[in-house]
Amino acid sequence: LNRRLAEFGTTIFAEMSALAVRTGAINLGQGFPDTDGPEQVREAAVRALRDGRGNQYPPGPGVPELRTAIADHQRRRYGLEFDPDTEVLVTAGATEAIAASLLALVEPGDEVVALEPYYDSYAASIALAGGTRVPVTLRPHEGSFRLDLDELRDAITPRTRLLLINTPHNPTGTVLTRAELTAVAELAVERDLLVVTDEVYEHLTYDDAEHVPLATLPGMRGRTVTIGSSGKTFSFTGWKVGWVTAAPELVAAVRSAKQFLTYVSAGPFQYAVAEALALPDSYFEEFRASMTAKRDLLAAGLTDAGFTVFRPQGTYFITTDIRPLGFDDGFAFCRALPERCGVVAIPNAVFYDDRTAGAPFVRFAFCKRDEVLSDAVTRLKA
Ligand code: PMP
Ligand code: GLN
Repeated sequence: LNRRLAEFGTTIFAEMSALAVRTGAINLGQGFPDTDGPEQVREAAVRALRDGRGNQYPPGPGVPELRTAIADHQRRRYGLEFDPDTEVLVTAGATEAIAASLLALVEPGDEVVALEPYYDSYAASIALAGGTRVPVTLRPHEGSFRLDLDELRDAITPRTRLLLINTPHNPTGTVLTRAELTAVAELAVERDLLVVTDEVYEHLTYDDAEHVPLATLPGMRGRTVTIGSSGKTFSFTGWKVGWVTAAPELVAAVRSAKQFLTYVSAGPFQYAVAEALALPDSYFEEFRASMTAKRDLLAAGLTDAGFTVFRPQGTYFITTDIRPLGFDDGFAFCRALPERCGVVAIPNAVFYDDRTAGAPFVRFAFCKRDEVLSDAVTRLKA
């Protein structure tokens, strides 16, 4: 293994899912739903397979039906206009979109400022691109993890190439506010930075939290690469259909990298996701309502079990602090948890450069059937 990758080992999601299989524990680690997405979308995939649409290499940028559906979605929800031919790129999940964006836009030695805790593929993709990651840590403040804008400003140097933002944020569940994002945007404009923004949880916001796409803010449309995914929004994480929307020159750059990573992927599923994106608003509302109830169920259960719960405003993850239970090492806690009570969770420390800062935090996924969540809570309380 080369020096760029040596520090990364096996992704925590594979490790913890394997542990769940081995021990028969309830898997609240890796974030995937245990109920598949809408029947009619699955039928659309079957129809595409049968009708021979996408069974051979689809076009490099993605099938036109899907690129149009992505552009329509961005217009309908956010008032953002993208040309489906030059400003939309279909990728093999958001994971490839992240990797291709960094490989395309970062020069060796460039610094990439990323929110910490960071989704694990960010660190590996920055490393593959030869960049240096510069984490800006979200810190607990009045029940949620918040961005300190002064720390963000201080992290930017003449070598900074881009900001890597994620909202709604995995693993903390923080949804950056319009005011916070406006400050991020002002910094990006002032320092003339590109921004890559991972918005895969755009439809998963709770209570009065509002998802504000960075590209909608002043000065950002031309300098922002926005990443989305069908995995989270439609509960088809195995299909690996993601996308990038950005200005033509940025999309062209990302596509230059993408063409040599996978070239294309998921032919028939692209047609199905095009239909999914056109589902009526009621689908998105019901999905959000169902996830809100699950969040409440698991948050209440974890609180009863003695964890300090950071009530998420977005995503389908709850970050907890294990110190009230008498533990302070999330790694040890998560390794012992399956044997101790039959539940798998993720130690947030893996998402930190500063592992000490992340040590007491543990993440639980709530994208599971209510009875599974209730069973997990019963086990954790025991
Ligand atoms: N970004 C974040 C923040 C995620 O949590 C995930 C996991 N789904 C991804 C990207 C990767 O998404 P995909 O499965 O579409 O590659
Ligand atoms: N995004 C999912 C999570 O955060 C995992 C995706 C993966 O396993 N690569 O749990």
